[in-house]
Amino acid sequence: MALSVLFYGTRGQIMSVSSDRLIYGGHTPCLTVNEGEERLIVDAGFGISNLAHELMNGKNGPARNEFHILLSHFHWDHIQGLMYFSPIYFEHNRINVYTPFEVDVVKEVLNLLLDGSYSPFNGLASLPCTWNFVKLNGSNRVGPFNVSFHPTAHIGECYAYRITSDEGRVVYVTDHDARSSPANESLVAWAKDCDILIHEAMFTPSEYSLFPDLGHSSFISAMENAQRIGAPMTLLTHHAARRNDSELAEHERYLEKLFNNRDRKLAFAREGINYRL
Ligand SMILES: [Zn+2]
Ligand SMILES: [Zn+2]
Repeated sequence: MALSVLFYGTRGQIMSVSSDRLIYGGHTPCLTVNEGEERLIVDAGFGISNLAHELMNGKNGPARNEFHILLSHFHWDHIQGLMYFSPIYFEHNRINVYTPFEVDVVKEVLNLLLDGSYSPFNGLASLPCTWNFVKLNGSNRVGPFNVSFHPTAHIGECYAYRITSDEGRVVYVTDHDARSSPANESLVAWAKDCDILIHEAMFTPSEYSLFPDLGHSSFISAMENAQRIGAPMTLLTHHAARRNDSELAEHERYLEKLFNNRDRKLAFAREGINYRL
């Protein structure tokens, strides 16, 4: 049973729907880390709605009624899809939400998202599913996975995840500024010895110079982090919404020339591709 990663959303900030953005995809962040029939959902951008149909209908595995979701933070691009995650509409479903935040904080934020102002619901308790909120503390077991976390350099609190099983190690770093800083140094040391590194890379270097304080990375600084972390497979994600397929492919080719060798490969993440170890 190999570990794999499947993206349902690769865009940062907002959706990007256009015929010239079909290859890399247009949904906001969501992916699954998979081992056998186990699915660990990471982030709940709008991509989670397509995933919901697959999980409920038993595509690529059995139909299920228990779901495990890790959230990096509460910026809207990472949680807005939750209200369109169809398992929440059914009584027999149990939704486990894991973060390093205090449970009361998570409930307060999601109650706001799901109140009568921003959704047709009236708070978490108005939905038929069962919610279970878990505060992660250091190292936690979620199904066959062991999950640990590290803060990112972002605006507000945001967490990177290290997801380990007997089959391999995935590190997910999103909404992080990879320029040199004590926070980045600490994160790079923590992320070493992984098999798949997922790292955000929203900006070109010139875009980064316009917005150096937004808490995101240029693809050059993301690649430099990846060189230091040394994973055999690096997937860059959180693509800028305005970037079309040919622009992404051009940047990807440029980075491949600088980065790829016999021991390591880098790609820009695409929706719908199952990346295996
Ligand atoms: Zn984001
Ligand atoms: Zn953010």
